[in-house]
Amino acid sequence: MNRQRVCVLGSTGSIGVNTLDVIERHPERYEVVALSAMSRVDELLGQCLKWTPRYAVMPVQTAAAELRARLREAGSPTEVLDGADALAAVAAHPDVDTVMAAIVGAAGLAPAIAAARAGKRLLLANKEAIVVGGALFMRAVEEGGATLLPIDSEHSAIFQCLPEDRRVWAERIDHIVLTASGGPFRSRDPQTLADVTPEQACAHPNWVMGRKISVDSATMMNKALEVIEARWLFNLAPEQIRVLIHPQSIIHSMVVCRDQSVLAQLGTPDMRVPIAYGLSFPERITSGASRLDLLTTPSLSFEEADAVRFPGLHLSWQALRAAEGSTTVLNAANEVAVEEFLNRRLRFDRIHAVNAQCLEDVQPGDCSSIEGLLALDARTRVHALELARRLS
Ligand code: NAD
Ligand code: MG
Repeated sequence: MNRQRVCVLGSTGSIGVNTLDVIERHPERYEVVALSAMSRVDELLGQCLKWTPRYAVMPVQTAAAELRARLREAGSPTEVLDGADALAAVAAHPDVDTVMAAIVGAAGLAPAIAAARAGKRLLLANKEAIVVGGALFMRAVEEGGATLLPIDSEHSAIFQCLPEDRRVWAERIDHIVLTASGGPFRSRDPQTLADVTPEQACAHPNWVMGRKISVDSATMMNKALEVIEARWLFNLAPEQIRVLIHPQSIIHSMVVCRDQSVLAQLGTPDMRVPIAYGLSFPERITSGASRLDLLTTPSLSFEEADAVRFPGLHLSWQALRAAEGSTTVLNAANEVAVEEFLNRRLRFDRIHAVNAQCLEDVQPGDCSSIEGLLALDARTRVHALELARRLS
């Protein structure tokens, strides 16, 4: 069997590191041909020395130059690429079969679309890419003949509950239920959310993740982005997507079929499960996750998401029903607001104010090209930053 040649975009992040962990368990099946990171030269250097990929990509030239020099010093044959188009170039490279899209934010859109257009097996962790890309992203997947495999645990759960033949999905699904842990502030007094610090927001009860998604989990904007992601991945109407808080994170999501039979996927909360499924689909390989022991698991419980505590959740349905491009606006506003919060320039409870106001104020324009979407993203960021500064 030929080994799958894998490119990991965002290899130094939480998903990237977990991906390499799964790959390491199956050297006979996978070969790492490209790695990428934004700024952590030490980490990427370590990964390059361990995996000897053909390419390492760092978009910023100064970081790339440092990595290049240190790799050369170590006698490594890895070639370092930099510049704006390098990520898309490796994602579409003819010697790459599989692309793990694990960059955080809209920065991952162009490389993910490049992988889609080049017909790769595309493992999508980078939910912002599909939220920003919407119809354009899905068209790229279809036209490129790519195999799009969800890595977000909820979407992997839905995908695992559905038949392999996508053509029957529409006739089988009544609706889906995305489960949410409720994050670190599920039971905190909403009156006190103004004082939340970045450290508190990033301390997730069930998952260890990057900072941006951790803040999104605390506001439940993560679930809002996942509603939009599900709309595109499974071609659903907004009203076919429901959200339920399930604090134990054991049921990763559910499909309610036409006949009201409910299919769920369960497991310990470990991202290596969806990653392993993406890598091996339609087969199954070991992932390193521990076994789910239902006898020692606390009882499974469910709650409605509180609209006062989590006002951002509903922006997803609002954006999906508004003009095309509204989800791009919502994502850009949220990226800016989260960044401002992490830099202690915006209060936690004002992230929502920035997001909601941007949805009101920013009129989407042309959404038919990456350039159009990125221009809308940039335009929204300027406005969101202004709003955040005014609120700070
Ligand atoms: P992270 O912050 O840990 O890692 C992000 C990676 O992207 C790093 O390698 C970083 O160097 C790179 N990166 C950041 N900005 C970049 C830019 N502008 N250009 C190029 N590269 C850049 O994030 P993460 O938690 O691994 O999440 C990655 C993506 O996966 C996010 O979209 C997140 O929503 C999604 N996701 C993560 C988890 C999880 O458990 N961590 C679960 C589901 C979905
Ligand atoms: Mg998720």
